[in-house]
Amino acid sequence: MRQQKDSPVYLGGILFIKKTLILLLTGIILMQDNNFIKSGNTIKKIALIGSTGSIGRQTVQVVSAHPDRFKIVAIAANRNSEEFLRQVKELKPCCYAAAEQDGQAALDIASFTDADIVVVACGGFAGLKYSLAAVNAGKTLALANKETLVCGGELIIPLAEQKGVDILPIDSEHSAIWQCLEYDRKKPFKRLIITASGGPFRGYTKEQLEGVTPEKALCHPTWNMGAKITIDSATMLNKGFEVIEAHHLYGAEYGAITAVIHPQSIVHSMVEFADGAVLAQLSEPTMHLPIQAALCYPERLPCGYVQPMDFTKALSLEFLPIERGMYPCYDIALQCGRAGGTAPAILNAASETAVGLFLQNKLPFTGIYAVINDVLSGTPQAEINGYDGISAADTLARQRALAAAQKYKR
Ligand code: MG
Repeated sequence: MRQQKDSPVYLGGILFIKKTLILLLTGIILMQDNNFIKSGNTIKKIALIGSTGSIGRQTVQVVSAHPDRFKIVAIAANRNSEEFLRQVKELKPCCYAAAEQDGQAALDIASFTDADIVVVACGGFAGLKYSLAAVNAGKTLALANKETLVCGGELIIPLAEQKGVDILPIDSEHSAIWQCLEYDRKKPFKRLIITASGGPFRGYTKEQLEGVTPEKALCHPTWNMGAKITIDSATMLNKGFEVIEAHHLYGAEYGAITAVIHPQSIVHSMVEFADGAVLAQLSEPTMHLPIQAALCYPERLPCGYVQPMDFTKALSLEFLPIERGMYPCYDIALQCGRAGGTAPAILNAASETAVGLFLQNKLPFTGIYAVINDVLSGTPQAEINGYDGISAADTLARQRALAAAQKYKR
């Protein structure tokens, strides 16, 4: 981990005088700025894991729009990329680390002492260990990494309860539900209704699906996201993951979660209550809103990245059922969710491997489901006892997915 060091000792005296002057000046400014005193705002200090990914970059934008409210104090990314080095320069975090160079240092960022809130925005199974580190350190966890709950929900939810740590959802559907529940994850409800765009291949025949290329699959009709999640949206595996996430996050039985196709991606999800009332959260699709909702919680602040809804023009919102068999990856994800234990972790590892191969043009689009199905039917599932068991299931499933992919090779 790199630390941005204080100036050398010989400058200490000058610095002391400078700091005293700054403190005095700040005091005078604060006394003059009554609004600041009245609002009593404190700056939330944020550690950001996965700073160069899609959610990471949007988190930086949200933070930069409210410098009086947020400060990024530590960042970690996978690689020392140009973007990462640019962020280090711009954000001047106290600490930064690239996981590829120093895995432990990146992990230390997730439990960074000075942070009030840890945003886990990296993708994939790797996110689970960062989320666990944050919760173990007693940090509020703003969670964009869905694999944390998919693979480790049975582990992290009780751990967070025990540590008294808040988990704030950043996934847009779960943020919508959270907002409909008035930010109370324990509020009673009858049913959660998760919306899905249906992806770019809704209505495609089996033959058409076989010819789908990575370029085509990476064009999502409504959302702009990272590659893995865009492909998972096309197969609807992503929606299956989100049902599992909702099960853990809101303690919902699988029978009390419905997913529906909503091609416009304006209603981000809904909650039905005991009396039959259904509340929905609407906005133009952008991740800036759920990111800011989590960072601002329990307040709301203006967000310049959200296009206001224009109700002076005609607006049609459609909702269509997901028929069984239409999206085999969605169906198999629900089976894994219901099975529990390491089944969702095996599913996820197989999907990460298969999607990676598809993106490299080494597996056809329909091979993604075929590989997942093979791995799940041939890998023993176990109960969850701790991180090591989940990690072992993940490693084994990746090996099996690579072997299974040989059969379906392009
Ligand atoms: Mg989502």
